[in-house]
Amino acid sequence: MASHPASVRLLQDLIALPSVNPAFHGDPDLHGEHRVAGFLESAARGRGLETEWQSVVPGRSNLLVRLRPAGVMRQRVLLAPHLDTVGEPDYAAQLRPRVRDGRVFGRGACDTKGSVAAFFQAVLNLAAGGRRPSHTEIVFAGLIDEENLQLGSRHLARIGPKADLALAGEPTGLEVITAHKGDVWLRLRTTGRSAHGATPHRGRNAVSAMSRIVLALEGGYAAELASRPAHPKLGRPTINVGRIDGGRQPNIVPASCTIDIDRRTLPGESEAGVRREIAAFLRRQGLRAGFDTLRTSACEPLDTDPSLPLVRALTRAAGHRRTRGVHYFTDAAPLASGGTPSVVFGPGDIAQAHTACEWLAIEQLESAVRILERFLRDLD
Ligand SMILES: [Zn+2]
Repeated sequence: MASHPASVRLLQDLIALPSVNPAFHGDPDLHGEHRVAGFLESAARGRGLETEWQSVVPGRSNLLVRLRPAGVMRQRVLLAPHLDTVGEPDYAAQLRPRVRDGRVFGRGACDTKGSVAAFFQAVLNLAAGGRRPSHTEIVFAGLIDEENLQLGSRHLARIGPKADLALAGEPTGLEVITAHKGDVWLRLRTTGRSAHGATPHRGRNAVSAMSRIVLALEGGYAAELASRPAHPKLGRPTINVGRIDGGRQPNIVPASCTIDIDRRTLPGESEAGVRREIAAFLRRQGLRAGFDTLRTSACEPLDTDPSLPLVRALTRAAGHRRTRGVHYFTDAAPLASGGTPSVVFGPGDIAQAHTACEWLAIEQLESAVRILERFLRDLD
């Protein structure tokens, strides 16, 4: 173990701390954003850094670690990875970090304890080397609940601290992501009239009404979305009918049926707009459905200006000439809605996220630390 760099040792320590999002697992012994945050807090305090808890909901807090500038503060950069992970039935085995073939294996290795380790290690290195910027405050913000309702980032966006740039930590392969799609979930309901299965003409079948809606959404509506002008980084919006539920048994004409749909949105689209658009499309087809919201808050799309000076500085530090878009959504969007220009950045490949055998390449982790140090050190 001693031969591994500090960031790898830190990542192993973080993997060994269970921090499954409480929404995904009933066993409180596996929950523990607070365990990860507590570990980081004592490490930060041990290096003389200021720390602060930001209570989001009872028992779950964001952790802030501040590296104050040498002089008067003129700008702030937020390093904001999330502390929670998804869970698996055999989670216990995934809590034992393993290093093999230049990779660190374990739950959260790439999503997103790798980013936590890289961001935190960069701050520690800066603090230790006495190379803090003159006028930029650097705040490490460990956020709760990204994997479920994004409560941590939404709370921070509401009460601050605001910043001139936030980096949401996710495995982007060390590319700077300035755009991602948003996500609206809707439930559609058809209502019929029940009758005995032997006399179907006396009822009105809600399942067959819904089947026409499903075909229309996946047919004409999807084709209409696919014919729109493409966003340069994100392509076009999409729709998926992910769930259907209707009827009780074969000998009853079903009186109600629901479907749950996932509509990926582009910058500029809103939940209310999507709902109006789908209702209008169905009306044009002579179809009708009621609408329910499945989630209290939709995930917003992200579209940050790649030419902002801090975004350009990070992109340069990462060795790239341009920023990219991704198809998954992140904490960057809620942070951006709070008024902080935000990007997504971190070591690893999203293909390994949420898999049973999650891993992160050590080379990615070490490069992330170097890129961040370079970016932060050169800030004014
Ligand atoms: Zn993540």
